[in-house]
Amino acid sequence: MSLAKTLTIAGSDSGGGAGIQADLKTFQELHTFGMSVITALTAQNTLGVHGVYPQSIEAIEAQIDAVLSDIGADAVKTGMLFSAEIITLVSNKLRQYEVSNIVVDPVMIAKGGASLLQEEAVQALKHELLPISTVITPNLPEAAKLLGRAEMKTVDEMKQAAVDLHKLGPTYVVLKGGHLTEGPAVDLLYDGEEFFELKVERIDTKHTHGTGCTFAAAIAAELAKSATIKDATETAKQFITAAISNSLVIGRGIGPTNHAA
Ligand code: PLP
Repeated sequence: MSLAKTLTIAGSDSGGGAGIQADLKTFQELHTFGMSVITALTAQNTLGVHGVYPQSIEAIEAQIDAVLSDIGADAVKTGMLFSAEIITLVSNKLRQYEVSNIVVDPVMIAKGGASLLQEEAVQALKHELLPISTVITPNLPEAAKLLGRAEMKTVDEMKQAAVDLHKLGPTYVVLKGGHLTEGPAVDLLYDGEEFFELKVERIDTKHTHGTGCTFAAAIAAELAKSATIKDATETAKQFITAAISNSLVIGRGIGPTNHAA
């Protein structure tokens, strides 16, 4: 038999809640064949990121070539890319292998404050990766950084930001409203013409480590299985809502979402 093939190009979270580990668990739960290219190791647990160890360009290139020259991928998700140099490599390789479903989660800062993307790499993300991406999944601080403006506070401001992010080149924008301080957690899908709102009641838990990674990986898995973008984001929203509702109280800090929920 064959399975849809999903590849994550991201950082490793030794604590198992975010990054590569969250992506592979999500790929598996959504019945795809998950593969990984590790851009950086993090020494991490529920208390935070204790160390960041980027891999060499050579090691990252060798992983991408090994996977894409042989197995191929029906969708690729990118997460922590850390530096401009890594972003340039990944963008060139995705172009070289003509990957068709590219989900870019523009990971910048961990919830505990650790930087997962160097400041000068934001321009590379904007100019090299976003123009070739199928969908980008920023949260509000990431969207503000990409657009060089203050963080959005209302759904109307989110809509304007989605339009402006779309101009940077992705086919679709999924702007996550989890950082809105009032009301339900609204995420917006914008396809260049219409807005679709994904709305659920806010779940009252602090155990949300790995939420962004999981949501973007779920979108990639669904696109790999040929879902439409609307169906893919709706399924991903259901998946992440269940994972947060059943998040794990492990360790002494912020627990991870439960991918097996
Ligand atoms: N560690 C890695 C390797 C990640 O890719 C990410 C998020 O994308 C995080 C940590 C941050 O996780 P969170 O902010 O959900 O705790």
